[in-house]
Amino acid sequence: MEIEAALSENLCEQKTSDKINFYLKPPVSVVSLEECEDLFRQRLEAMSCVEEAPIDSIESALKSIKSNVYLTNCVNLNVNPTPEQRKHDNISHFLARLFFSLYPEDSEQCKRFKSFERRLLNLKLRTLNCFTANKLATFLKYFNFNFDYVTDVEECQKLAKQRYIGFNLLDPSNKRIDSVFKVRFEDALGFVSKRSVAIKDGFALLTEKDIFPILSEAFENHLDNEMRVMRNTLSLNGQEQYLIENLELVYADFIAENDEKKKKMRMEQNVGRSPFSLDISNVDQISRNHFPPCMRYLHESLRKDHHLRHGGRMHFGTFLRSTGVDMDSAMDFWRDEFTKKITVNDFEKNYKYNIRHLYGKEGHKKQLSSYSCEKIIKDAPGPSDKHGCPFKHFDEKNLKTLLINYGLSNVDSDSILLAKGAQDHTRGCCEYFKFTHGDFPSEPIRNPAQFYYESVRFAQKPIKTEDEVERAATPDKDPLQPPQTN
Ligand code: SF4
Repeated sequence: MEIEAALSENLCEQKTSDKINFYLKPPVSVVSLEECEDLFRQRLEAMSCVEEAPIDSIESALKSIKSNVYLTNCVNLNVNPTPEQRKHDNISHFLARLFFSLYPEDSEQCKRFKSFERRLLNLKLRTLNCFTANKLATFLKYFNFNFDYVTDVEECQKLAKQRYIGFNLLDPSNKRIDSVFKVRFEDALGFVSKRSVAIKDGFALLTEKDIFPILSEAFENHLDNEMRVMRNTLSLNGQEQYLIENLELVYADFIAENDEKKKKMRMEQNVGRSPFSLDISNVDQISRNHFPPCMRYLHESLRKDHHLRHGGRMHFGTFLRSTGVDMDSAMDFWRDEFTKKITVNDFEKNYKYNIRHLYGKEGHKKQLSSYSCEKIIKDAPGPSDKHGCPFKHFDEKNLKTLLINYGLSNVDSDSILLAKGAQDHTRGCCEYFKFTHGDFPSEPIRNPAQFYYESVRFAQKPIKTEDEVERAATPDKDPLQPPQTN
């Protein structure tokens, strides 16, 4: 069966951009349904390659696309693409654009597609690296991007002399800058936040290399607008509806296969994983045996309320990351628990970003580590918060109840209350460790993740003889010194 799917070579685009597609006009051509499905599937695969590549590694994304998708030409990464390559690139882009336009604007699927296309364009610009500043200015104009382009050599030199441009080059005199892009301050926030741009009269002054991410973002905004128009105006006839239904099948199949692949990869990674890494599928038992009271309490609260407030999510989420839980497993864990109370959509909308953020996938792109005891102790929780250090933030009655619930005897918990009275909260935690493990940790507790690792390491030590246990319990032993090695 053949489907006429608004596919054609875009001659105007080809003339102006030569080596890169901006997908300004839908192509018109006759393509078989099978070919549509195949190209759409390849675009999805390219999406996965780009998403999985480390944020700053072009090489890895490129290698992955080339080995997985490129041979079939659905993503054009050539300096001089053949007409066939351009056609496949165009078709697969427009099929994916059509398909994802049917999702709501703020849906995860729609955002994924737009972000992929932006990253892909950035990747092409950096890889092909063969565009003059003039050409880049022309590209920006495609998208009605508001900027001024200074090509007057004298003015550029004056700006360089005044250190408005070139100030981040080691030797500015070595590089002649003969064109400058004046971009509105609010369009260059990425540079402003990194303090890598000079601002003059409300404009950020950028050189041609700086313009790649700006151009990619302008392209994403353009794509966003186009998809909005398509979403609001599209009415599918019989053939188009049939095409969409088939793309849906391809998409569902791709997602299922991808999930399976990810699960398999996680299992394979787990085989060679450190024995100390936290196995989230067994977290209830591990929490009882190895978590410090602060994290055990957070975990139990999460299980009971199916929710944690922001502070609790940060404390517990960073702890899980530092104890070796990967992002996908953490996401599944939080989603499973939260969606006992809210819908999956609400979870995706309100909480997913937070988890991706602490794994360095959003915002400042830095992975966050488990907070130190000092920070936890200083950060007083509010009345409905569950985070905090029980040795500091619980009153004596509640602390005693908690300790008894966690298996300590009356006498042992009273001894910990003495440490609380002396405001020595981490010492209280060390004593808790001793009462629950039979000995003190090898170092004073400074971080909940360290407590966890000490505890797991401790459980793997050979069992002590009665004599050793007795020696460890003698009163003259300094409790915060490392134990004798066996
Ligand atoms: Fe948690 Fe540290 Fe308090 Fe122990 S001392 S309960 S590890 S915050």
